[in-house]
Amino acid sequence: MKKILALVLALVMVMSVASALAEKVGVSMPTKDLQRWNQDGANMEAKLKEAGYEVELQFASNDPQQQLAQVETMIDNGCAVVVIAAIEGKSLGAALDKAAEKGVKVIAYDRLLMDSEAVDYYATFDNFKVGVIQGTYVKDALKLDEAEGPFVIEFTAGDPGDNNAGFFFDGAMSVLKPYIESGKLVVTSGQTEFEKVATPEWKPDTAQARAENILSSYYADGTKLDAWLCSNDSTALGVTNALEANYDIASYGWPIITGQDCDVTNTNNMIDGKQAMSVFKDTRTLAAQVVKMVGQILSGEKVDVNDEKTYDNGKKVVPSFLCDPVIGTAENYKELLIDSGYYILLDDGHVD
Ligand code: BGC
Repeated sequence: MKKILALVLALVMVMSVASALAEKVGVSMPTKDLQRWNQDGANMEAKLKEAGYEVELQFASNDPQQQLAQVETMIDNGCAVVVIAAIEGKSLGAALDKAAEKGVKVIAYDRLLMDSEAVDYYATFDNFKVGVIQGTYVKDALKLDEAEGPFVIEFTAGDPGDNNAGFFFDGAMSVLKPYIESGKLVVTSGQTEFEKVATPEWKPDTAQARAENILSSYYADGTKLDAWLCSNDSTALGVTNALEANYDIASYGWPIITGQDCDVTNTNNMIDGKQAMSVFKDTRTLAAQVVKMVGQILSGEKVDVNDEKTYDNGKKVVPSFLCDPVIGTAENYKELLIDSGYYILLDDGHVD
């Protein structure tokens, strides 16, 4: 009897150690340099811990090799699920193969992991819709359907290594391209192809340098600029800085600058009238959805997805959950960002 009891006890211990191991979740974020990934990382960590998981959170200094090593370590350390926001969608093949070999489930977070069968799920915001929101804002603000025009616009897109960047750009172009074709929108630089307007690593300095170049080459003669479509806030920041120093804001006023993420600096720029809009993607919503996915995977339940046709990573169409992005402006930021507890309102009217 004693022997059986000891055996049962040992079995229970082994099982509980195994299940504790099985409940470790790895979270790999691209960089600490941009506000949004710090927020995503913090939200994921807090929500996973709340749900009772052990968490291994890493940021990879925007270095794909470092991210690859970090994900491999997470797998070696016994993570049962790894959640990855890739720096470069195509650079993690070796780690994904390893995950598949060891039965570790992989969730692509915000950015799709490319060229691999070993991607189980994808959770993101509707990336095409982000671009549509930006393009529609420009269309409505310039009254492209009523006003005579022509209006002048330039474009700045994201990182070609990030699968999202093309979706943002295509979404915006789906609204604006007809007006470029009809001549109501004029792109003075002639740069309308994604490859031409892309910003490697989404770096503000790179976006700024290109914008300065465009301003000195095409606008130094006093040509007025009506809009600058930027795919996100980090690139919008670069463009804003370039305009501030190299364009006659005092005479012409700010062109319509778009963005995405409602970063603190950009929200304050909206409040100050420099940036016209941003797109708010509440990282708390995405984190909550991913934590739900992790729970469903680990308990063997059916995993909630709402899109099974859009995100083809070159090897498979990855079942996806798309959260809803919404417009952020100087008109609605209080309701969107302050009332919801995302930021606090400072005495001087700015946010933090
Ligand atoms: C994200 C954006 C972000 C950009 C730069 C994209 O993949 O979806 O929200 O602005 O990366 O970090």
